[in-house]
Amino acid sequence: MNNPSLLRIAVQKSGRLYEDSVHLLKECGIDLRNVKDRLRTVSENFPIEVFFLRDDDIPEYVEDGVADIGIVGQNVLGEKDRKVNTIEQLGFGKCRLSIAIPKAMPYAGVASLQGMRIATSYPVLVGDFLKRNNITASIHEISGSVEIAPGIGLSDIVADLVSSGGTLFMNGLKEVETILDSQAVLIASNSLDVERKIILEKLLFRIRAVKKANKSKYILLNAPNDKLPQILALLPGMRSPTVLPLAESGWSSVHTVLNEQEFWEKIEKLKEVGAEGILVIPIEKLVL
Ligand code: ATP
Ligand code: ZN
Repeated sequence: MNNPSLLRIAVQKSGRLYEDSVHLLKECGIDLRNVKDRLRTVSENFPIEVFFLRDDDIPEYVEDGVADIGIVGQNVLGEKDRKVNTIEQLGFGKCRLSIAIPKAMPYAGVASLQGMRIATSYPVLVGDFLKRNNITASIHEISGSVEIAPGIGLSDIVADLVSSGGTLFMNGLKEVETILDSQAVLIASNSLDVERKIILEKLLFRIRAVKKANKSKYILLNAPNDKLPQILALLPGMRSPTVLPLAESGWSSVHTVLNEQEFWEKIEKLKEVGAEGILVIPIEKLVL
């Protein structure tokens, strides 16, 4: 029997999304013990039950309401075309579905794909791409090790998931087109009851706080008071930086939060205008 007061979340059982999915839930303060080799587990401190499944099955389970929410790659979601809501991009599991061809093969844009035999695990996404570009080609669906297909004569080219491109390179292939940019997303069933919607809101609040924190750093630095105006001009802060006097007269300590993207550039500029003893601290949660 389902316990109506638990939010059931489907995550990948093992594979590239497993670690990051479980880590995200743990960062949200959700206690998950003995997750290794379990098919399901209930948290002891948050009303959530985790189902561990193959990633390909997750959209279907969520559409059917067997799970309330799930974590899955946009690539799987696009391929499966299930009626579920995408609620939040999670920032991990980043990859792209790309077309790759043997290194020596000439390429002059999508028209070069005409008549090719393409091996892929994503026939729907690849088929849509070909249709959009008015290309006729034959798609050979295979479930794994797509990158070796041209080498063994199964296909001319491939459409496969790529992150660094290393696997393609090692198999003598080069990437020529991106079909889809993908990352892990949180999906939800269309038919959540009120109780579960409330739990989902709580979970989302925590996920967003974790995401913001991961993107930010807490900065502490010392500065001579006469340099403070230039230093403060460089710092956005949440409202404004905190400035506290140091024991040594004429000096202050400045505290603020910096965005990861602008971080290195700002640190260099801060040093140039006289900041010293710059301390950078990771932030665990950030609630705005
Ligand atoms: P399962 O046994 O659950 O079906 P799988 O073999 O289909 O696992 P993985 O290889 O673990 O899947 O990949 C899971 C997801 O990780 C992919 O669907 C994709 O969203 C994401 N991903 C991120 N980078 C890559 C990559 N370089 N290659 C493949 N998938 C990647
Ligand atoms: Zn899979």
